[in-house]
Amino acid sequence: MAVKDWAKTDFEYIWHPCSQMKDYEELSPIVVEHGEGMYLYDIEGNRYVDVISSWWCNLLGHCNPHINEEIQKQLQSLEHVIFANFTHKQAIRLCERLAKLLPEGLCKFNFTDNGSSAIEAAMKVSFQYHQQTGNPQKTRFMALSEAYHGETIGALSVGDCDLYTELYKPILMDIVRIQGPDCYRCPYGKDRDNCNCECAKNAEEMFEKYGNETAALLVEPLLQGSAGMKIYPPLYLKKLRELCDKYNVHLIADEIATGYGRTGKMFAFNHARVSPDIMCLSKGLTGGYMPMAIFATTQKIYDAFYDEYNTHKAFMHSHTYSGNPLACSAANAVLDILEDGSVLKKANENALYFNQIIKEKFASHKNVGDIRNIGLINAIELVKDKTTKEPLDSTLRTGYQIYKKALKKGVLLRPLGDVIYFNPPLIISREDMDFVTDVALECLNEILPD
Ligand SMILES: *Cc1c(COP(=O)(O)O)cnc(C)c1O
Repeated sequence: MAVKDWAKTDFEYIWHPCSQMKDYEELSPIVVEHGEGMYLYDIEGNRYVDVISSWWCNLLGHCNPHINEEIQKQLQSLEHVIFANFTHKQAIRLCERLAKLLPEGLCKFNFTDNGSSAIEAAMKVSFQYHQQTGNPQKTRFMALSEAYHGETIGALSVGDCDLYTELYKPILMDIVRIQGPDCYRCPYGKDRDNCNCECAKNAEEMFEKYGNETAALLVEPLLQGSAGMKIYPPLYLKKLRELCDKYNVHLIADEIATGYGRTGKMFAFNHARVSPDIMCLSKGLTGGYMPMAIFATTQKIYDAFYDEYNTHKAFMHSHTYSGNPLACSAANAVLDILEDGSVLKKANENALYFNQIIKEKFASHKNVGDIRNIGLINAIELVKDKTTKEPLDSTLRTGYQIYKKALKKGVLLRPLGDVIYFNPPLIISREDMDFVTDVALECLNEILPD
């Protein structure tokens, strides 16, 4: 088929995620032929630098030779097997290794096949735990303002990004909403590096009111991705940990986006030096290769389900593709690469450079309100007015205009509203950092002349 025909046939049949399909009339989908490292190549031979890790999941580059090889090896022996009462070496090895890497106390692993499902499973486990340990009144969940935990009904309920949730509110659960940190527009007039997390006051009030009827609090540690890459200090997590302990509420860490070195440490919770009761992992877990997710939890929670069959205390949750061997082989291959720490060390050195050039290139632009970073993740929030921090008119779709321009110049950005961000694979080179920031600045200047 000719180039045009592939895109045309796509348009005829495919309903793409997170898209107004009418936009595709003007901007056809890019038909990708192959990927290598940081780059995607379309069927016309155009190259795109994948500086958003294909929706934050690609960790070590496309078609990474070691991951490719390990999946191919696994494919020769076993593609999939029922995971109830059957198991396989890849899953066993993976969990044994993760138990050593995760924050202290997380030692039991349950498999699902996408991030949203891991969130749902974690919520069910927490609810059931309290039912089985003498607290049947604990039926509610808490989450932060502007949270994002996925798109299935339960995960959507705990989320708070209007773009995704607003319409569905009549069919969503009633969540206890905590006003989370907002460091750029801090209501206490503090800044991120110099505060005592005064904003945790609202969490204290909500726990006082609803702690007794709450099973778990879900949190995206340090980085609220979909909210526009909002970043907050580790101290806030510590305060949430204390509140959860005081009110017997589980702390569920959604590390689906932050895990695997994205924040400069293996897991975002490592920055706070406290452990959650349940941690959800996906995205980087398989290097962005295969759909798989895991929740990890404590011996204490596991034990509340462990009894004679007829007590009906088991966690009866299941997914057909639980513990898929190909996905587990990818996850083991990722750990092979990360194990000695050198990839993360280099990424952290490069992160300093990345943030420095972004500040140099963007800070003085009249519409750049905030530049924030954690690990290799950098976000540039565009505003109408720097002093008042007034947002741009969202109906102008400024971020989307920049996205379209950048594609023509070979960079895959995908701004969140009017927040331009970079969330590259850990292996990005300085040359690529120079290139993507130059392109982003050019596109910004074309749309919003300084
Ligand atoms: C992507 C993401 C999810 C949902 O994962 P899916 O695999 O897309 O269902 C949940 N939480 C966070 C923080 C995420 O970034």
